[in-house]
Amino acid sequence: MPPIMTDNPAILPDHYSNGHVPVFTPTIDQFADFNKFVKAINSYGMESGIVKVIPPKEWVDALPQITAEKISSVKIRNPIVQNINGAKGVYVAENIEKKRTFSLPEWKKLSQMSNHQPPYPRGAKRRQSIVKNEAAAQKVDQTEFDYNINTDDFTPERCEFLENNYWKTLSYAQPMYGADCLGSIFDDSIDCWNVARLPNLLDYLDASIPGVNDAYLYAGLWKASFAWHLEDQDLYSINYLHFGAPKQWYSIPQTQAQEFYSLMVESFPENHKQCSEFLRHKTFMASPSFLESKGIQVNKVTHHQHEFIITFPFGYHAGFNYDYNLAESVNFALEEWLDMGLKSKKCECIADSVGIDVVKLINDIKKSGDNEEVNNYQLPEDKMAAKFNERHSLSPLSKEPLIQKQDDEYVGVKKTEVFKPLKIRLRFYGDGISQKKTKRKYTTTITTTTNNNNNDVDDDDDDNNNGTIESAKKPKINDGFLAV
Ligand SMILES: [Zn+2]
Repeated sequence: MPPIMTDNPAILPDHYSNGHVPVFTPTIDQFADFNKFVKAINSYGMESGIVKVIPPKEWVDALPQITAEKISSVKIRNPIVQNINGAKGVYVAENIEKKRTFSLPEWKKLSQMSNHQPPYPRGAKRRQSIVKNEAAAQKVDQTEFDYNINTDDFTPERCEFLENNYWKTLSYAQPMYGADCLGSIFDDSIDCWNVARLPNLLDYLDASIPGVNDAYLYAGLWKASFAWHLEDQDLYSINYLHFGAPKQWYSIPQTQAQEFYSLMVESFPENHKQCSEFLRHKTFMASPSFLESKGIQVNKVTHHQHEFIITFPFGYHAGFNYDYNLAESVNFALEEWLDMGLKSKKCECIADSVGIDVVKLINDIKKSGDNEEVNNYQLPEDKMAAKFNERHSLSPLSKEPLIQKQDDEYVGVKKTEVFKPLKIRLRFYGDGISQKKTKRKYTTTITTTTNNNNNDVDDDDDDNNNGTIESAKKPKINDGFLAV
């Protein structure tokens, strides 16, 4: 058998959603070790920005029932009301905290109010009863509470109908989102893929950071949206949908991350002027059709209950919820993230925006001696010395340079350090069939291109809106996510 030329035995996608998002259906053996699994699929996620993982049936079947106690522990504190303004595919979400705490039964009742219900095509019969107002939503019998809804309704056809409706009517409603609620409803007995207890490098952080190395719950309703963003410190993230309606996800392939950022700068010039990390405010939205019209590929995947979505460093993502649901999410780090984590920038205009001292983290892990890969990790100054030595000891057989530069154009107003994904083609062998596999390396480059664009981003516009939102309200703090 030919040698397998990867660090981990390959796990191949079962299929691709919409042609671009890898969907994995691991066996229970492949699923058993979370870190090993993500490493084995890393090159796929680094390419697409996000992947979907459908856990093995044995794992789902073995999950203990969600107890009434767990359900009553869910407190949806200060959910946000999202005022979404804009037109022609470019929007700003103004997220205003509602000073009220909802229990899950109350939240479910809320989903039955007419303004929170997804529409049905003309002539189709509504499945849900209507609750008249919020006061009525708070009168719920909590003793016989069925936390889930009938999710059979969310067929690919219905999701497509609702997705179109979402982008057409985005600014007509005020969706509510119970985002960033500290907590977990995973049973403590679950050791495998328990989002609240994923063994990873962030375990070596001194303090817990809510939502980063401490899980958050997200209670969704129809149209509740998450704007385009990268994770704090460009970490990985994992999102498990415990129950309810699906979530729609979008991602940008890493190869177009800079192009995407430049387009967003063009679309929101004032906000970019105030903060070069403005997308970390998580308030800027752009529709797939707008992005596609500007040459950006948008990857799409629908996330159903009992499935995981993993987002990868430097993979911009966004999305919305189709109806009432509950998801749990946390950030995590692999050794593959260290280079990117070191380069990541944080937003400086939000007082408590999350930043991790990655050098300290690396040194702390080295001190622990637990992790061989991190022990051997060279910090940038060591790396530069090593690179110099490497250059003087290249094998005479290597005709091509291992890293090839790409001439991606980055548009920015000041000198900026950017990542450029670079491809190396490796030969990969499995089951006697040879396949091309892509592995990524990162390098740093300094760009000095200036942006002379006049912000005219919408040619076919016949009203006064040219697709550019001139300004958005200055963000206020809400645990660093979705807040304005
Ligand atoms: Zn900022």
